[in-house]
Amino acid sequence: MDTFSSIEHVDVLIVGAGISGIGAAYYLQKKQPGKSFAIVEARDQIGGTWDLFRYPGIRSDSDLHTFSYEFKAWENEKAIASADAIMSYLRDTVSENGIGKLIRFRHKVVSAAWSTEDARWLVEIERTDTGEHVTVSCGWFFCASGYYRYDEGYTPEFPGRERFTGQVIHPQHWPEDLDYGDKRVVIIGSGATAVTLVPAMAETAGHVTMLQRSPSYIVPVPSEDRIANTLPKLIGRKRAYAVTRQKNVARQRLIWRFCQQYPGAARRLIRHLNAKQLPAGYPVDEHFKPAYNPWDQRLCAVPDADMFKAIREGRASVVTDQIDTFTERGIRLQSGRELEADVVVTATGLSLLAFGGISLSVDGVAVDVAQKVAFKGFLLSDVPNFAYMFGYTNSSWTLKVGLVCEHFCRLLAHMDARRHTVCYPQLPESMPTRPLLGIGAGYVKRAVDQFPHQGTAGPWRTCMDYRADHKMLREGPVEDDRLHFATSASAA
Ligand SMILES: Cc1cc2nc3c(=O)[nH]c(=O)nc-3n(C[C@H](O)[C@H](O)[C@H](O)COP(=O)(O)OP(=O)(O)OC[C@H]3O[C@@H](n4cnc5c(N)ncnc54)[C@H](O)[C@@H]3O)c2cc1C
Repeated sequence: MDTFSSIEHVDVLIVGAGISGIGAAYYLQKKQPGKSFAIVEARDQIGGTWDLFRYPGIRSDSDLHTFSYEFKAWENEKAIASADAIMSYLRDTVSENGIGKLIRFRHKVVSAAWSTEDARWLVEIERTDTGEHVTVSCGWFFCASGYYRYDEGYTPEFPGRERFTGQVIHPQHWPEDLDYGDKRVVIIGSGATAVTLVPAMAETAGHVTMLQRSPSYIVPVPSEDRIANTLPKLIGRKRAYAVTRQKNVARQRLIWRFCQQYPGAARRLIRHLNAKQLPAGYPVDEHFKPAYNPWDQRLCAVPDADMFKAIREGRASVVTDQIDTFTERGIRLQSGRELEADVVVTATGLSLLAFGGISLSVDGVAVDVAQKVAFKGFLLSDVPNFAYMFGYTNSSWTLKVGLVCEHFCRLLAHMDARRHTVCYPQLPESMPTRPLLGIGAGYVKRAVDQFPHQGTAGPWRTCMDYRADHKMLREGPVEDDRLHFATSASAA
């Protein structure tokens, strides 16, 4: 009996039922209806990020007209949306497209082994409810597992933490029953999570202090898009969505390019927007002037300037300093000042994880993903029939999902037409490379070595520009000199 005869086989196995995996399932169903596929999901819910995080105020900082799928209009009046609204959109997508029956919850992929002879992956899955191990084989392995660890966030070692008598909470593990009403809260961090938590907690807390080592760029944005909300009455819902999406793609691109080309002007503009929201005499530069240029790290958006409002009203404040030690009553800073606290929230980031921590091997040889180079932003050099989803970090992640999934479906059709069963990009003998993750935030820098690399030009470069990707992935051909195709002996 050969290895595979008793094992369930699907043409494509998708890992992860977050926004990327659900998107991949939609496109496969529509564009490759003849293919069998399944989604394996470690958790017991869809949604990934949007179900995991439960901290107060959890919301997107992208506009949902670009963060939602191209094929399903975002119809909520709020363009910057809560996790609840995003989850309800994802649930609708799943039920409207019959995707639910394809998801196997509590199935965590542990390893995947490629056999060239059989042109298949053998995938080891652990059932997170029973501990049982299940094996599935697949022709293509599509990894939509996000980019960070689900079991724990990142918390630096804080001296004296054990002395603190209050509560210390990480936003990734928010206790459902946490009561912080009238309490003194210190939020450590200055990223998107911290700036979301500040106004949300300040609604009922005694006072909220955001303690940051260094400032980030914080940009007020309207939570509603007036054009998006007016257009449907004029041109119908479907067209209005398409127009708004195009408008917002163009706006994101324009802002990003402006920041890259004119960093000085961008800095001044953001400072002006911040100063306008803050009380007269506020030390804007001390707390809102980062050392880096706009978009060297992701900008933090604050809808309707909610965080600035909390500061203006005295419910929240920002302290820029370094932690010397936790004390019994709070945190002592290097300046000597002590911040008293009942609750400390460590909004100190994510622990990044490549490809869901899955061990990959090709013909018995372990794949060191850090030695691999991304091709067209979704294939890996010399790893056959392996695709992954990694969205934009300088605009909405999901914009890339549609482009990659469409191209992937065209690649499958191309292979079927030629009876090919194997495909992988072949790395040229010598090619300069750089890390795949270009964003300079601390939590990204810490993990850069665990992720693949990218080239510096052509399809080896992972593009962060929707228009250029559109040209390559939607308009460009599937065939490429650098792609190796083959037909396995068994298929021939
Ligand atoms: C708090 C927060 C806010 C964000 N806001 C924005 C925003 O406004 N705009 C934006 O563009 N991006 C934002 N992001 C980035 C965000 O993660 C992506 O936009 C998007 O949600 C990622 O979707 P995904 O499906 O690729 O990954 P995820 O949402 O991470 O989903 C991955 C899924 O794969 C599953 N999985 C992982 N490993 C395995 C395994 N080994 N076996 C089986 N299943 C596995 C996980 O359980 C999970 O369900 C935010 C991220 C965070 C943490």
